[in-house]
Amino acid sequence: MAKAPKTAISPTRADDYPQWYQEVIKAADLAENSPVRGCMVIKPWGYNLWENMQRALDDMFKATGHQNAYFPLLIPMSFLEKEAEHVEGFAKECAVVTHHRLEPDPDGGLRPAGKLEEPLIIRPTSEMIIGATFAKWVQSHRDLPLLINQWANVMRWEMRTRMFLRTAEFLWQEGHTVHATEAEAVEETERMIDVYADFAENWMAMPVVIGSKTAAERFPGAVDTLSIEAMMQDRKALQAGTSHFLGQNFSKAQEIMFQAESGEREHAWTTSWGVSTRLVGALIMTHSDDDGFVLPPRLAPQHIVILPIYRDDESRAAVVEYAQSLKKELEAQRYADAPVRVMIDDRDVRGGEKKWHHVKRGVPIRLEVGPKDIEKNAVFMGRRDQPKSIGVGRDELVSTVADILSDIQQTLFDRALKLREDNTVTITDEKTFRDFFTTKDENTIHGGFAYCHFADEESIEPLLKELKVTIRCVPRDNNDTPGTCFATGKPAAKQAIFAKAY
Ligand code: AMP
Repeated sequence: MAKAPKTAISPTRADDYPQWYQEVIKAADLAENSPVRGCMVIKPWGYNLWENMQRALDDMFKATGHQNAYFPLLIPMSFLEKEAEHVEGFAKECAVVTHHRLEPDPDGGLRPAGKLEEPLIIRPTSEMIIGATFAKWVQSHRDLPLLINQWANVMRWEMRTRMFLRTAEFLWQEGHTVHATEAEAVEETERMIDVYADFAENWMAMPVVIGSKTAAERFPGAVDTLSIEAMMQDRKALQAGTSHFLGQNFSKAQEIMFQAESGEREHAWTTSWGVSTRLVGALIMTHSDDDGFVLPPRLAPQHIVILPIYRDDESRAAVVEYAQSLKKELEAQRYADAPVRVMIDDRDVRGGEKKWHHVKRGVPIRLEVGPKDIEKNAVFMGRRDQPKSIGVGRDELVSTVADILSDIQQTLFDRALKLREDNTVTITDEKTFRDFFTTKDENTIHGGFAYCHFADEESIEPLLKELKVTIRCVPRDNNDTPGTCFATGKPAAKQAIFAKAY
């Protein structure tokens, strides 16, 4: 039997995917658990990545006409009661603030005191507080459209948490918009899911499918929820972003009304849309390998790390000087409309250990420079998407560095797309469906994306429950050919994607 190659991360993806995911987070120094259950500490490398995501998304929101604003963390409980479906959806996950101070208790500890007349909830999402404000801001058709985004933290008391993918407190952005007509609000909902898909594919190098959620999976209170769905390396689906058409449900609950050109007072049409720190989890699960994190260059906190290699103080000076001048030269190059980001790791750590440190953190390009490289005016380059390092002339490296980064970005996208294509099937009967989603033994990953025509959600619910499969979305594009339901044989207008999911 061939000996398994040694990997930096143990267990490997094939051995234990969920544990591998936790180990990558640890090895890449992205985040750690906190004393508060379900809430994580995001460490500098992880937070820098989130900041890069924020910056790119924020530019895209501004380019589509939105402005940022900020609303309170606490929402009066009565606000949530206004929209019936919304309450029902979120009530079971709300953290509630009932007191406004602490006092000493007789045992020497502290206890809550000063009971609030009306409890406050920590926002699980901000439709209700933002809507109440919008009701004041919107008076006339001239105030519309109102296009606002908020960067914030929210709290959903999730029972089963997993770092980045599902935490109790998470960071996100939430867009909230108000429109005079249904058509404009629908157009906005589509525009923003397209922005998310563009970000996922062109920044994260993560292919996604755009589609509508079915009634059972919709955002509480929404008329239509659009989502982007991505396939992770264990072939499970991850909902990576959502854009909701809220119809007039929230404007009616919150009296968001405007005077139309006709002079009539009308209820407005609203949307909301969000992505969260879950995207960091999505990135890890899409690209990382058994040696750790793999960063797409467009979002990488550093594109390049230079590792000076030397024996003694004498060679150290020359190598460090070479590294510094190389850093300057590389930083003068531009990749994806920004300067190339370069760091030198001159810590007093053994060469091998230092190299693996950056492999595990996913830095796209590593450059080792030692006295021999200086003589040849060259570097030893390791690309994170390739197993072997190669020697490259310094001038050649500098002049092609942007192309190398583009090539890594494209390679990661192509790999992820291939994985999805290799694990996507069309299924037309229940037996094949069952087989596809039934795990044969513990170590075999089974399933993927199954495109199936389906007639109605309720009748297939027991089957989906049994197999732990969900309807991810009804894909928006290329989905106009009618067929028959894979489970009931009834006529069906559309196909949906079925998958196991996070
Ligand atoms: P929603 O408001 O439910 O549509 O959620 C907006 C986005 O936030 C979704 O697309 C999810 O990807 C993400 N999200 C929802 N719940 C969580 C959570 N507990 N932790 C991290 N991200 C989440």
